[in-house]
Amino acid sequence: MNKRTVTIYLTFIGILFLLVFSLYAASFINREPAAPLATPTAIATPTAAKPAVFDGSRALADVQTQVDFGPRIPGTEGHDQIREWMRSELEAAGWTVETQEAERMGHAIYNIIAKRDARSPQIILGAHYDTRMYADHDPTPGMQAMPVPGANDGASGVAVLLELARTLPKDSVPVWLVFFDTEDNGNIAGWDWILGSRAFAEKLEAKPRAVVIVDMIGDADLNIYLEKNSNKEIRAEIWSTAEGLGYADKFINEEKFSMLDDHTPFLEKGIPAVDIIDFDYPYWHTTEDTPDKVSAESLKAVGDTLLKWIMSESKVP
Ligand SMILES: [Zn+2]
Repeated sequence: MNKRTVTIYLTFIGILFLLVFSLYAASFINREPAAPLATPTAIATPTAAKPAVFDGSRALADVQTQVDFGPRIPGTEGHDQIREWMRSELEAAGWTVETQEAERMGHAIYNIIAKRDARSPQIILGAHYDTRMYADHDPTPGMQAMPVPGANDGASGVAVLLELARTLPKDSVPVWLVFFDTEDNGNIAGWDWILGSRAFAEKLEAKPRAVVIVDMIGDADLNIYLEKNSNKEIRAEIWSTAEGLGYADKFINEEKFSMLDDHTPFLEKGIPAVDIIDFDYPYWHTTEDTPDKVSAESLKAVGDTLLKWIMSESKVP
């Protein structure tokens, strides 16, 4: 090797070394930061930057908690307990809670309203928290005078709203979460359907862009068809959001049922409203409406969809 060859050779080795070294360094840059060996809580960085994720299993646990209170029939202990529990969960998540008292057909009504600030709501999300006093669709005649446990019919909607209270980003459009009382005792002497939402809609002065009701959305075999009376524009937005998230098998883009539900009083008032309901539920108004029929995946599909739809509303100028 002459001097020139040696120089070329060394230069070549130098370039190779630099290449290998920069690749090695780049692998470090791309790598996730290593977990700290200990968790120094005192210097923990705020977690605000982390986007909140709707936790389906936490929502499912909330279904179980509600059923464990016993039937949530107006005037019962379970009905009192669920209100106290909802209040503490909402307040822990940073919401201000109001109880709206009213009376219909001689029955006291307690709607629970959660707000994050004083702004007028652009979106109202609603679910009924009461349960039906008689399981009159139970296949066993002897069971038809028993109360409905209401895991899907009652608890599932409440669970989705509570988990949304914990995960909805603070920079969303103004949202109210409303937990309606006395929805579910229609066709019983001295009662009617949707008493709580009727009382609420009657007093409502705000003009929200949309009211969205969730009812019976926890069925492990979830089939939510387009409800016929619902506002078509808002309905289409929500179903296409679900499709974008890969939930087209659960949010089926076809009309099927026409419901009288908590969306009805708002529609009657001229407020765009949508009912998200899976009415293909074999345990509807039976003693078998229990938490084992509900899945975390179904609750999450509905929660993720509403979260994304609300945040897309929030980007509209
Ligand atoms: Zn019902």
